[in-house]
Formats: sequence, C-alpha cells, structure tokens
Amino acid sequence: MSERQIPLVDLAAAHAEVADEIAAGFARVLAATAFVGGEEVAAFEREYAGFAGVDHCVGVANGTDALELALRASGVRAGHEVALPANTFIATAGAVARIGARPVLVDCDPDTLLIDPERALDAVGPATRAVVPVHLYGQCADTAVLAAGLPDWVRMVEDAAQSQGATRDGRSPGRGSIAATSFYPGKNLGAYGDAGAVLTDDAEAAGLVRALANHGGTAKYRHDVAGFNSRLDGLQAVVLRAKLARLAAGNAARRAAAARYDALLGAAASAGRLVLPVTAPGNTHVWHLYVVRLGAGGVDGADRDAVVGKLNAEGVGAGVHYPVPVHLTGAFAHLGHRRGDFPHAEAAAGRMLSLPLFPQITERQQQRVVDALVGALG
Ligand SMILES: *Cc1c(COP(=O)(O)O)cnc(C)c1O
Repeated sequence: MSERQIPLVDLAAAHAEVADEIAAGFARVLAATAFVGGEEVAAFEREYAGFAGVDHCVGVANGTDALELALRASGVRAGHEVALPANTFIATAGAVARIGARPVLVDCDPDTLLIDPERALDAVGPATRAVVPVHLYGQCADTAVLAAGLPDWVRMVEDAAQSQGATRDGRSPGRGSIAATSFYPGKNLGAYGDAGAVLTDDAEAAGLVRALANHGGTAKYRHDVAGFNSRLDGLQAVVLRAKLARLAAGNAARRAAAARYDALLGAAASAGRLVLPVTAPGNTHVWHLYVVRLGAGGVDGADRDAVVGKLNAEGVGAGVHYPVPVHLTGAFAHLGHRRGDFPHAEAAAGRMLSLPLFPQITERQQQRVVDALVGALG
C-alpha cells in the first residue's frame, strides 16, 4: 500500500503487532493437529467471556450463524416474528430469514441511528419471539427500555457484531440476555477468516447453542436435537487470542481517534455541512465505524456518492455502512415495504459515509482525511 493510501481499516498494521505471536501459535496448533475446537478454542472462549463480561462464550463459524443460533436457542422458529432495525447490515435480517421467521423492521433514532426502542416495543405482537437491538457502529442500543417493556414471550437477542467491548450503563451485551458477535477480519476483534461467538449468562442457552452448532450433539454421537455445523477453528482461536490481548488498548485508541475527528470536523459541523456521530448517554463507545452524514443533499445518495468518490480518488478509503436499508433490498422486497416506510433509516442511508478509523491511524492521516473531506464538500 502506498504512503498516500489511507485504508478504511488497516489490517496489515494490525497484523504487524501480532505476527510473531500468531506464527508461534499456529506452530502449536499444527503440532497438536487441533484444527476444529481444541485447547486454543476453549482458552479463547474463556478469555473472551471474561473480556465481554458474560459467563459463557461459545465460538462458532461466523457472526450470522451466531445470530441464528442465539435466535434458535431463544425459541425462534419458522413462522415467528423477530423485530430488528431497518438500518443494519443485511445479515441481521438474513439470520432471521434462514430460520423461516419473519423480520419485522423498525425505524431508528434520527440522532444516534440506533434502533428506536419504543418503536420496537410497538412492533411486538402475539407472533413475536425476539427483538434484536443492533449495537451499530460500536455503541449499544437502548436495551434497558426494551428489557423493561418486552412481554414475557419475547426474548432480547443482541447483535453485538460491531460492539466488542462496548457497554451501556455498565452493562455488557449478553448480560441477562443472549448476544451474537462476529470476528470477521474488519471487526474490532478480527480473525483471519470467518468466525463468531454467542455470549450469554444463561448456561442452558449456551449449552443449546453449543449442541446446535455441533450437529445437535450433546455428547459424542448422541444427538437429541437436529443441528448443523458451525464451529470455531483452532487457527482462528490463535489469532483471536493474540488480538484479544490488545483489544482494550485498540478500543481506547479508536476513542482517541474519534475525539480527534470530532475536533477536526467541528467547524464543518457548526456550519451545518456535516452531522457528526452522536453518542447516547451511558454508552462506552468502541468506534467500530466513524459515520458522518452530509448536512444537506439529496436522500437518494447521489451527493454522498460524489463525496465518497472524491475521497477515494485521493486515496482516502471512505465507505458507506449501509447504502440500502433492509426493506429496500431485493432480498427483502417480499416484506412489502415502500420507500418512505422508515424515514430516519432512509434519510441516514442517503447521507452517511464512514471515515477511515483503526487503532493505528495517525494524526497526520486523520488530518489528510479531514482536508480531503472538507475539500470534497466544496
Ligand atoms: C458483521 C455483521 C454481522 C455478520 O457477521 P458475519 O461474521 O459477517 O457473518 C451481523 N450483524 C452486523 C451488524 C454486522 O456488522
């Protein structure tokens, strides 16, 4: 990568910090031929549960499987309804659909872009079995309002794929509920391939997830439920353990970098040209993404796309998370929604862009991103 390129996420810089440790760990796994499960996986599950502030961590093959498994362990079956935000990565809805359940979409808060908990409660009906708050961009949605308002037949299943290390009012995702996370390489804690985990304090739910993810087996060749294969690999566990040891420091560096963007972009925000990200009270944010919105411009995204195009042309790896809300995708057209159904999610989708953010980003790189962005705003 050239000096001038500033990636959205710098995976090479992250690898440089752990390269030796990972090489030694891979040698251990190869010597033990512990390729699926094994001691490294068990050690990672213990260490991540400790980090995440929950009693149980079950490592699985990816974050989407983790969500599906958490939903299944919460009693969600074909024909049930599951409420989730319209503005999320499509996997949140995909996990629901794979069970044969129906996603019921909910608009977001216009400031934080997190699921509006009151609307989520309004979406609950007799067929609802779960509500999925998505802890988008690295900060937790309002789970307190959900937990207090949900009827006893509805479970909270948290999508914590973007919020590793985040808390709200001191509470970690999965505490008193069940949460799913993803270790896709670009996440705050990233594997070298696909990986994910389910987090909970509920020993029974954790056991059910472990069984479902291992062909429904509760002991070798004893199968009491029909499951599938979604296990964590030993080599991925080596990577995750090495990176987990640096995650708290990495999250702190992300917070410092986000504060620096806030300061550098303050003038553009005061002039009404940009809307900076808003942190909800009580949140410890881990800044998976730093998402700004154009202060004006068409909600169809053309102006935003032009700004992203100019940034990319200058070597700044800006991205969009996500350009199309779930209800406007072809995959979920059958839900029968139209443009206008979730106005806050739609307005945000047309105006947002994500700036490069990773623990190793330098002040100089951030200044260059800001100069390019202010220039692109014209
Ligand atoms: C990454 C992500 C997922 C899916 O995780 P995979 O590991 O890619 O399957 C689900 N939800 C959200 C919000 C994500 O960001």
